[in-house]
Amino acid sequence: MKADIVTIFPDFFRGPLDHGITRRACEMGLAKIEVHDLRQFTHDRHRTVDDRPFGGGEGMVLKPEPIFDCLEPLGLASREERLAGAAKQSVILLSAQGQRFTQKVAAELATLDRMVLICGRYEGVDERVADFIADRELSIGDYVLSGGELGAAVIIEAVTRLLPGALGNEESAAGDSFDESSGILDHPHYTRPALFRDLAVPEILLSGHHQQVRRWRRKMALGKTLQHRPELLARFLESASRQSDGDRAGREILAELVDERRNQ
Ligand code: SAH
Repeated sequence: MKADIVTIFPDFFRGPLDHGITRRACEMGLAKIEVHDLRQFTHDRHRTVDDRPFGGGEGMVLKPEPIFDCLEPLGLASREERLAGAAKQSVILLSAQGQRFTQKVAAELATLDRMVLICGRYEGVDERVADFIADRELSIGDYVLSGGELGAAVIIEAVTRLLPGALGNEESAAGDSFDESSGILDHPHYTRPALFRDLAVPEILLSGHHQQVRRWRRKMALGKTLQHRPELLARFLESASRQSDGDRAGREILAELVDERRNQ
């Protein structure tokens, strides 16, 4: 996977992408990240990337020309080919007005050969970039940041860990929160010491009863989901209904949790 980042702050990425799994994926050749300085695609002495908004109003807007000029030499397939899925490439504009970036979108992007991430700044980016050069607009959440750089780093990190081979043997994306197969949150994790100060880890984890441990973890994961993200449970029930036994065990645990909460 090749990722190109288009930004007015190229140094921003020194650091965030240089650690852990993302770094290792680059070292292993699974991912290649190139940062493009938008100012290198300006043609005036002041290297101007922004201008005042037509129609008036506060703030500045990123100009379209440097962005178009930056993307053209990248040798991408045409926008039509990309949108039709004929090329495994996507040009993404980071935008608070975009479609929400989720684990599902991350999994979709992880199947691409190439993605280009355009980072906005100021009041945003001239809309012609969204209309004619970007394939999609993605938002990393319902809040407003000052630039798309953190969003680009978030997307690259979430996508990179899903590339086949990026996670070592000791790590796994299966069972992670939002994992496609369950859709719910991860279960809690504990490690040694079993007793820290006077805080003991749950007894069941030390019991060696693998089946009971599995059930307990599932209950904890469903409990956390019910508590923090109940809206995810609709999807859990939907996927349960597709399983041969309707995931009776899972639905039983959920009913148990709902009962327990009612009796609290
Ligand atoms: N006026 C815009 C906000 C501009 S913030 C609005 O209200 O929608 C400047 C830039 O930060 C945006 O162009 C975008 O690239 C980035 N940005 C801000 N919030 C973001 C978010 N939630 N997700 C992704 N990018 C975001």
